[in-house]
Amino acid sequence: MKSGVSPGADAHHAQAWRSVRGSALMAADTGPTTVPLLAADEPPCVETVNADGRSSLVLVCDHAANRVPRRLGSLGLDALQLADHIGWDPGAADVARRLSAELDAPLVLSGYSRLVIDCNRPLRSAESIAEQSGGVPVPGNRGLSPGERQSRIDALFRPYHAAIARLLDARTERPSLLLSIHSFTPVLNGRPRPWHIGVSCGRDRRLAALMLGALARSGDFSVGDNQPYPIEDAIDYTIPVHGEGRGLPSAMIELRQDGIQTAAGAAAWAARLAQAYRLIEAEALRSLAS
Ligand SMILES: [Zn+2]
Repeated sequence: MKSGVSPGADAHHAQAWRSVRGSALMAADTGPTTVPLLAADEPPCVETVNADGRSSLVLVCDHAANRVPRRLGSLGLDALQLADHIGWDPGAADVARRLSAELDAPLVLSGYSRLVIDCNRPLRSAESIAEQSGGVPVPGNRGLSPGERQSRIDALFRPYHAAIARLLDARTERPSLLLSIHSFTPVLNGRPRPWHIGVSCGRDRRLAALMLGALARSGDFSVGDNQPYPIEDAIDYTIPVHGEGRGLPSAMIELRQDGIQTAAGAAAWAARLAQAYRLIEAEALRSLAS
């Protein structure tokens, strides 16, 4: 049963949230000696897997986790809300890890919830630290001071993107093609979404066009072309900055969550993606050289 539905539970959440927020504000007001957002014993803000992987493909997973730093409590949300698609991309990290292993590709994953700060939103976007998501108010993101915003940028956003940049910079021995792995909810605002998988791009269509062709050839599932989301500078960060910004062929994969919620489903989609990539890798590398 959802714990936030009764008035009593709501009141409890609000009270608990005020107390967490109060202690965070006190800590933030202590000036240059402010306690870091992440305590030393908390999981890192970014994880790099198989950094020396020999594939030409570099994988990133912007919405891999739904963890919230201890100092921020639960952002005023209940566990079910944080576990829902507004908090992260369920299943995406599992597929990304399997694909990384299958192709011997390096992978960078974010360590905390997109609701703390969204690593795939420009900092100027209202969705960077969303005050509501999917119609759910996020109490812990309301009325933040500049210092509170900056602490999230410094602790989570910057290190994640620095890790991607470092990884790409270090690959002097081989070319890089960039693929970000996301997942999407099967039903949005009451409307079912027909695609099993989507491949999206921004200005650079090279890698997306090849992946779309390979996926369409290799199975009887529905593939969205720039669906359910295109890549746009106003709302995307990772592909515009690390892909287009470096002139690397890049694309975003979106997997429908009902297809990857079990280990078997995630494994099947990782295998399909690996197969599609193997079919088009040589041509993608030629597009990089031309
Ligand atoms: Zn995502």
